[in-house]
Amino acid sequence: MKCNIAVLPGDGVGPEVTAEAVKVLEAVGRKFKHTFEAKLGRIGGNAIDEFGTPLPEETIRISKASDAILFGAVGGPKWDSPTAKVRPEDGILGIRKSLGLFANIRPVKAYPQLLDSSPLKASVVKDVDMVIIRELTGGLYFGKPKKRWETSRGRRAVDTMSYSEKEIVRILKVGFELARQRRKKLTSVDKFNVLATGRLWREIATEMGKEYADIQLEHVLVDNAAMQLVRNPGSFDVIVAENTFGDILSDESAMLGGSMGMLPSASLSSLPAVGKRAKGVGLYEPIHGTAPDIAGKGIANPIAAILSAAMMLRYSFGLQREADAIEGAVEGVLAEGYRTADIVARGDTPTPTSKLGSVIANYI
Ligand code: NAD
Repeated sequence: MKCNIAVLPGDGVGPEVTAEAVKVLEAVGRKFKHTFEAKLGRIGGNAIDEFGTPLPEETIRISKASDAILFGAVGGPKWDSPTAKVRPEDGILGIRKSLGLFANIRPVKAYPQLLDSSPLKASVVKDVDMVIIRELTGGLYFGKPKKRWETSRGRRAVDTMSYSEKEIVRILKVGFELARQRRKKLTSVDKFNVLATGRLWREIATEMGKEYADIQLEHVLVDNAAMQLVRNPGSFDVIVAENTFGDILSDESAMLGGSMGMLPSASLSSLPAVGKRAKGVGLYEPIHGTAPDIAGKGIANPIAAILSAAMMLRYSFGLQREADAIEGAVEGVLAEGYRTADIVARGDTPTPTSKLGSVIANYI
């Protein structure tokens, strides 16, 4: 198969971890006889420095012309001024919007080799194997009115949480379909006791649950979901939540996997059947940011980016065996004891970013 990929490394550790994901894809290409044609694009702070915009036209063009996008991360202290007119984050928000990517899929897995890296007890995290689906294009992030103003009694600001039936149905559909591909349990998260959007969300989830009679549907309030994620995380299979709730719950769950550097994600406009290619362009990225504290030191964990490449093979190209090969290689090298600094046991020598990427590529 010939696969056209837009590679957008971004800022900070983005280029360091993305380079390792590309290295691993090349190894998959050699082993399984696929051609991965990669086109590099600028995005984020470095694009602001060079072109005055976080999302140059050329990057949009390359992205739209590709089958899938491998993205690193954007942002950093250099571009953080509260008065800045353009922000690196607008680059990734703009790409998601222009491609209609409304479903963010974040698998969270506790690797047996890393149980001691989680701040939670090994006995609590040992059975964790879940996927969090976050709605990406609605809710508080985009609802209008959204503004800030001065009043005689001080400053004021407003954000609006707004969801249409269509937006709720399409993200819940991804949840039900993904649950069907896994252990057939869907946890729908809302705040129906307080929010009008929460009541609409639960009503629609209940209606759709009747069409998906083979799926065990449970409704959980977001505050309770936050608690259950640290109390009994192994009980979850697929969780689906609106934008803000999904953002917070998925970062909380990152700690179940031991490190931000371990968790991949996919942003899609539809969920393909197993082994089929997704419609539209999917975007694949580690859930972590640019990690300015460790950028340029060659010590970032590339596994989240590498596992994002595996998700790309699975969802954008329907290449199950190849995706399994990457995931198996990650588990294999962890079992052999290779660890970057964020997950290394005290007293052991950490493996540098580029070495870990090479070891995983060689394993494949
Ligand atoms: P972060 O994810 O960059 O870092 C949080 C912590 O996790 C840091 O201690 C960092 O060293 C560690 N970490 C992150 N990735 C790691 C990796 N691969 N290996 C080892 N350790 C890793 O979050 P932050 O510090 O809140 O944000 C830093 C910058 O990144 C900000 O400018 C923020 O806006 C941006 N950001 C971008 C994205 C994105 O592009 N999608 C997402 C989150 C944050």
